[in-house]
Amino acid sequence: MLRIGLTGGIGSGKTAAADMFSELGVPVIDADVIARRLVEPGSEALAEIVRAFGKDVLDTEGRLDRARLRQRAFGDDAARARLEAILHPRIRRAMLAELERLEAPYCILVVPLLVESGWQDLVDRVLVIDAPEALQRERVAQRDGLSAAEVDAMLAAQTDRATRLAAADDVVLNDSDLETLRRQIEALHHKYVNLAFA
Ligand code: ATP
Repeated sequence: MLRIGLTGGIGSGKTAAADMFSELGVPVIDADVIARRLVEPGSEALAEIVRAFGKDVLDTEGRLDRARLRQRAFGDDAARARLEAILHPRIRRAMLAELERLEAPYCILVVPLLVESGWQDLVDRVLVIDAPEALQRERVAQRDGLSAAEVDAMLAAQTDRATRLAAADDVVLNDSDLETLRRQIEALHHKYVNLAFA
């Protein structure tokens, strides 16, 4: 099965694009969805996170307060590395296990930090959803109600646009409306089906 790694900066439109592939019947495995599942109460990963970062990363119901953890990890390289050491191997294993269960000509693996984490080996092709930085800021600020400084910190923690684009086999420029995005995704769908049967 052909594996397409879908990536892009925050607010570039990864989720919107992945949903469109999914509507076309393509299986989508999302690293963020897996990451959320892995840290559910009672999980081994959550216990390790609490050991590393303290109980104050939990909310009153004992669930991971992702916003608080993100704040801690974004400002601090060592904390980020510790968090990634807990999560990344588990996410990779879970993704590979899900891949084993799939049957389709091709599938989409949504991995926001594909390039940063060097996970290109998991996929056959890299699809980058690209958007001008001003648009990323606007979309994220609007969607999540974050301050400009918080969006800046998130952008700074990610690889720059040029590095990401250099790793791409395919690029979708998502700088227009959702219908334009859909047309681009449909064109890629035909390309990937053809490649899968080539
Ligand atoms: P993150 O990395 O932060 O999870 P993402 O890359 O998954 O973000 P989306 O959540 O798909 O990005 O998009 C960010 C926001 O912008 C969403 O509210 C989405 O609906 C909106 N959006 C994405 N693409 C477009 C578009 N072409 N036109 C209008 N709105 C868009």
